[in-house]
Amino acid sequence: MAVLKANAYGHGLVTIAQHLNDADAFAVARIDEALALRAGGLTKPIVLLEGFFDEADLPILLANNFQTIIHDENQLAALENAQLEAPINCWLKINTGMHRLGIAPEQFDEFYNRLQKTANANNTVNLMTHFSCADDVDSSKTMQQIALFNRLAENVEQAHCLSNSAGILAWPSGHGDWVRPGLMLYGVSPMANTTGKTYQLEPVMRLTTKVIAVRNVAAHEAVGYSGRWQSDKPTQLAVVAMGYGDGYPRHARAGTPVIINKQRYGIVGSVAMDMITLDIGNNTHNIKVGDEVTMWGPELPVEEIAQCADTIPYELLCNITPRVSYQYQ
Ligand code: PLP
Repeated sequence: MAVLKANAYGHGLVTIAQHLNDADAFAVARIDEALALRAGGLTKPIVLLEGFFDEADLPILLANNFQTIIHDENQLAALENAQLEAPINCWLKINTGMHRLGIAPEQFDEFYNRLQKTANANNTVNLMTHFSCADDVDSSKTMQQIALFNRLAENVEQAHCLSNSAGILAWPSGHGDWVRPGLMLYGVSPMANTTGKTYQLEPVMRLTTKVIAVRNVAAHEAVGYSGRWQSDKPTQLAVVAMGYGDGYPRHARAGTPVIINKQRYGIVGSVAMDMITLDIGNNTHNIKVGDEVTMWGPELPVEEIAQCADTIPYELLCNITPRVSYQYQ
């Protein structure tokens, strides 16, 4: 079940979906995302990971072959009370320790039986849970979640679905029947201090821009907003057309790398809305206006940039803003 929420983690919802021929289903968070997939001509089953919010949504689910999770009493009651022409495919979501969505383990028998009984749910009620700490191989939490899920699900033959990317990469006993890879589909690792390469994953996205100016600055000339950076000797700067208006993290620290002509350079000064400055020293590699700059991509892991900005690669990928244009190869 390929997870395509948040514009396919910033990669472009419909285009990515069109390239995932081997996926058995797609998963998104919201109904609008699922409708966008249908509008784009995608016909695979789509699972709504947040479920539905309102009884009025149910005919939309039915008409579009959307499957829903059921995670609480409001949803189950709405499903039971609806007048539907056919049953909906449901996934019963169990809270095994994330404490975000999902029914309590003690509610399992009641929810499962009610879902079996209502004519509005397909008899094949599948079971789902979500891991909270699967990216931490030293934590015992994931094994506890798997054990609790298995205890509840052991007599239920329908599909079991537990693992996100970290579960897939690090917890084989949690693989179940269906898996829900998100980040790893895009070639990026969810595990701390690793990159996609660690797991033979290839990054899908390359974020690039151009150098728009090369200039000299004297020693102690303060550069950019708030004059946050200055060189203690004369140097050259490359100014790059990329900023937080494109989704580049404003809090990327000094020295966060970019690549120009296969060489790494560190950013200096404040990341602005449209521009970033690089200290290129005496410009031994002859950087020129118009040179391509890679902000992240296969040779500059987004995981590394995320660390430099005290965040996670997920946030960087899905923060790409609409003014960034996409080219697919
Ligand atoms: N399953 C659920 C319920 C999710 O919310 C997510 C994403 O957060 C995923 C699977 C995919 O997670 P990941 O991108 O870590 O593989």
